[in-house]
Amino acid sequence: MRYVLATANPDKAREIVTVLAGFDLQLRPTDIPDVDETGDTLEENARLKADAIVAATGEPAIADDTGLEVAALGGAPGVRTARFAGPDATYSDNVRKLLADLDGVDDRRARFITVALAKFPDGREIVTTGVVDGTIATEQRGLGGFGYDPVFVADESDGRTFAEMGDEKHEISHRGRAFRALADKLADLQA
Ligand code: IMP
Repeated sequence: MRYVLATANPDKAREIVTVLAGFDLQLRPTDIPDVDETGDTLEENARLKADAIVAATGEPAIADDTGLEVAALGGAPGVRTARFAGPDATYSDNVRKLLADLDGVDDRRARFITVALAKFPDGREIVTTGVVDGTIATEQRGLGGFGYDPVFVADESDGRTFAEMGDEKHEISHRGRAFRALADKLADLQA
């Protein structure tokens, strides 16, 4: 069975294709307009993105939504992770705002959560979640990854940020965990 990826973000698509190796995946067709992420939860946003792809293509879709929850910020940016520094924020804007908000703060605990969701044209849905706990570094390190990776140090890491890890990131990352769980459930479905 073929699945159409809902993400328009090439960094996320690259990671999902790596983790879902062996699945027949099609990248999001470029003529499908972006969906406004108006949901109150990661799951709602993932569903909005998947539903839009199923409606446009008539094929099964795979979507995800990710949030970074920072303890000292009361769980922010959470569902607003992509727009933390404003509606048109770049990765770098968001990271700089995060470092500024945590300037002088000792409690640097944070958590990435990914909700992965597969939706079928008949309405069936599979939802999985992946979590990784860690801390926010005091400065950016590493050139790999994307988004907040240069400042996120997973508790299971040897001290390197995700941006210093390459593909090892997927073994412990929120996205790796969510999509491996999704892969298991999709494989059961196809068996
Ligand atoms: P989205 O809503 O799932 O597209 O993700 C929200 C934002 O979270 C992205 O724009 C990135 O800034 C950030 N993000 C998502 N996944 C990761 C990751 O694996 N590492 C670092 N930042 C991420």
